[in-house]
Amino acid sequence: MSTAHRPTPTGMVFLVGAGPGEADLLTVRAARIIATADAVVYDHLVGDGVMALIRADAEKIYVGKQAGNHTLAQNAINELLVRLAKAGRQVVRLKGGDPFIFGRGGEEILQLTESGIPFEVVPGVTAASGAAAFAGIPLTHREIARTCVLATGHFHDGTCDLDWQSLARPDQTIVIYMGIGALGVISEALIRHGLAPDTPAAAIRNATLPSQQTVVGTLADLPQRVQVAELKPPALLIIGGVVALRDRLNWFERGAAEA
Ligand code: SAH
Repeated sequence: MSTAHRPTPTGMVFLVGAGPGEADLLTVRAARIIATADAVVYDHLVGDGVMALIRADAEKIYVGKQAGNHTLAQNAINELLVRLAKAGRQVVRLKGGDPFIFGRGGEEILQLTESGIPFEVVPGVTAASGAAAFAGIPLTHREIARTCVLATGHFHDGTCDLDWQSLARPDQTIVIYMGIGALGVISEALIRHGLAPDTPAAAIRNATLPSQQTVVGTLADLPQRVQVAELKPPALLIIGGVVALRDRLNWFERGAAEA
């Protein structure tokens, strides 16, 4: 058979959700794909246990973003993925949590489609699900929360200007990613738009990991409590009546304290 028409091997990119930290919270599919990749492009929220599943001979490329340098870094990452795939590699782009929830995964694969590179997306346990489960805070609960919104507290220009009116609704759970820095602004704006100052609220750091730390208070006093606890990112905010259920459902941290 002539080799003249044999197509050059094309690589492929798997955009994989690494979950909130612990390796056994990966999907079975994610674990299988990570173990077969020959190049892995990852950033700082991917847990050590997940990294340990990568083949020893695979190339590992760290692309953790530097604060304030997002746009440039993102373009460089997009181009890197295209270049690796064009070289015929089986590339895994590993992202913390779920790649389609505040992960910029959409931007990366849009670039791949423009370059005609095949891709697949593997969902992951997003921080909201991980934090909810491991902090004992159901995100929806009959008669307490009928809706749940996911929002980001981080804006490129350093402000936090959310649609406060639509967030400040009764019977709704608000989950805010990247919201620790703007917690004071968020608390003040939600109260100004009608949410009760004594609405239960929590900040959860390193959710699902042994180092998980949770600060609970009210919408009004959470900023102060977070400051006193010196809670740093990565942390998630959960605001709404469901937070009160934690008193009875906090299995994870309570278990650690009793052990
Ligand atoms: N794609 C990710 C989110 C990336 S944005 C996902 O689906 O989870 C990064 C933010 O996610 C962090 O600033 C923090 O708000 C949140 N986050 C990610 N992992 C977390 C964890 N283990 N505990 C608490 N918050 C986390």
